[in-house]
Amino acid sequence: MVDLKGQYNEIKEVVNSSINEVIETTTFINGPKVHQFQKNLEDYLGVKHVIPCANGTDALQIAMMGLGLKPGDEVITADFTFAATVEVIAVLNLTPVLVDVDPETFNIDIEAVKKAITPKTKAIVPVHLFGQCANMEAIMDIAKAHDLYVIEDNAQAIGAKYKFSDGKEVMSGTIGHVASTSFFPSKNLGGYGDGGAIFTNDDNLAHVIRGVVNHGMYERYHHDVVGVNSRLDSIQAAVLDAKLPHLDTYNNKRRAAADAYDMAFKSVEGITIPKRSGDHVFHQYTLKIQGVDRDALVAHLQANAIPCGVYYPIPLHRQKAYVDARYNESDFTVTNQLVKEVISLPMHTELEADQIAFITKTVIDFVTNK
Ligand SMILES: *Cc1c(COP(=O)(O)O)cnc(C)c1O
Repeated sequence: MVDLKGQYNEIKEVVNSSINEVIETTTFINGPKVHQFQKNLEDYLGVKHVIPCANGTDALQIAMMGLGLKPGDEVITADFTFAATVEVIAVLNLTPVLVDVDPETFNIDIEAVKKAITPKTKAIVPVHLFGQCANMEAIMDIAKAHDLYVIEDNAQAIGAKYKFSDGKEVMSGTIGHVASTSFFPSKNLGGYGDGGAIFTNDDNLAHVIRGVVNHGMYERYHHDVVGVNSRLDSIQAAVLDAKLPHLDTYNNKRRAAADAYDMAFKSVEGITIPKRSGDHVFHQYTLKIQGVDRDALVAHLQANAIPCGVYYPIPLHRQKAYVDARYNESDFTVTNQLVKEVISLPMHTELEADQIAFITKTVIDFVTNK
């Protein structure tokens, strides 16, 4: 699905020397590389505060802790996403409220969000799924009207731009009150291990969160709030800082691969190409397959040594850990359908034209019964 070795080979010298610098100076924890990467990412995103942490799941949890969400508070998020999003809500004893998604963008459904709001609702967590922003304009309007926090799960969309209807353009992850991202190796900006970060434009919240990530300390050995230990290690920061200047190029390469896939698939009966509602950085390239059995297509691709993935095969509201008597199947018609139809194809920065040609031909021949 990804070619991390090919990407490494292109930037080997600078990554190696950046890692070596950390080792030679033995600044393994909170070293200068971490601060350098933090500053460079703040500049890139145009956001006031980036707080690095250990992974994208922690980033979400810490964002919620920083906002002071309390047990029993309801947090609305999408039924069709990676489990981390709902997991941290549950870990903090908040109440997850899963809602359906849009059938074309796969992102949280605005009407479903509105319907789910109760007096206990405290926050909405839109996930910018597969590299495309949720409808943030509508979400921010709802949040304003109901006095709710918005936490963007930006793990899959770093580098994507979001355009408001008045023409204003900003980076994904800088719109809500706070955002989280992941630097897992296969993410659009991936380290060589775990990593994550929290973004916010709110000075007070940034201050609170800087304590939360560090055992609740604002002054050494004074623990003012309950915190966690969640750090980005300096070696990961060294890798990420070396890769950050390439992020736009990487995202353009993903878009170019998506364009080539779109071209091949767009008029094939039974295949729906991903809708682009705005800028899209294609963390995943995800088709919908109708008329043939999706799982048979998966098996066929595997038999032809073509990697593929089903993100996600089971809706969160049907996962054992997250079932809730309040849910009705009729409220999740879109997710229930998507889990049967979606398939994600190889998507990375090193895809060659001949690979794309082989992948598209293999998919099309199967779907059209050739
Ligand atoms: C990857 C991912 C996360 C979690 O990130 P980790 O760094 O693996 O903890 C959270 N949300 C979404 C949508 C993701 O894709």
